[in-house]
Amino acid sequence: TGTLGAAWAVAWTRRTAQVVVEHREELIELDRQIGDGDHGENLARGFTAVLAKLDALDAEPEDVGAVLKLVATTLMSTVGGAAGPLYGTAYLRAAKVTALPALDSAAVVALLEAGLEGIVVRGKANPGEKTMVDAWTPAVEAAVAAADAGASPAGVLAAAAEAARGGAEATTPLVATKGRASYLGERSAGHQDPGATSTALILDAAATTAAE
Ligand code: ADP
Ligand code: MG
Ligand code: MG
Repeated sequence: TGTLGAAWAVAWTRRTAQVVVEHREELIELDRQIGDGDHGENLARGFTAVLAKLDALDAEPEDVGAVLKLVATTLMSTVGGAAGPLYGTAYLRAAKVTALPALDSAAVVALLEAGLEGIVVRGKANPGEKTMVDAWTPAVEAAVAAADAGASPAGVLAAAAEAARGGAEATTPLVATKGRASYLGERSAGHQDPGATSTALILDAAATTAAE
């Protein structure tokens, strides 16, 4: 039942940086199969820059939104390609609904819904097009269901993370119709989408830190 505040948002962000660096090669390899092989490098560079910004702060961030806004602006300025603007917009939208001292379950759902909305506004992908939307969409659905069933904020994130992982795995047989992988047409089938995979890692970091 514990709410999540700025300290959680910082822990989530630091954990995300650690996890994307740990999974850098795996994300590069996935993107090499159906893209240009830079997704792991893009995210590792972006979140390493985010860590530097967090370390340079001279005061604790005052709320979750302030942390997410820092992530958004840093990703937008340091990560090129598709993922930088997409994740940047997701974090920026999420920041706008989390300018609160602490998030309850409904606010965690709002954070996730805003993130997905940002990605869809920016990238115009529908579910089933083999993108990060295929991880975010089941994550939001699972979060809503968990919150409706009375789950704690950590429980909402756990449900979202598990659904995101399932959504990422379910991209494997899909044919990409958005982004660079769509250039491959039918040949994009048989590979897991890198962006959906990184989304599952980011949401897993959110859930893990909320459970601590
Ligand atoms: P780039 O393709 O420019 O090299 P990245 O490799 O960093 O960028 O990111 C690729 C990921 O971005 C894909 O795996 C996919 O999940 C996501 N992506 C690409 N286009 C879109 C889109 N229009 N909407 C949502 N996600 C997208
Ligand atoms: Mg790429
Ligand atoms: Mg690229």
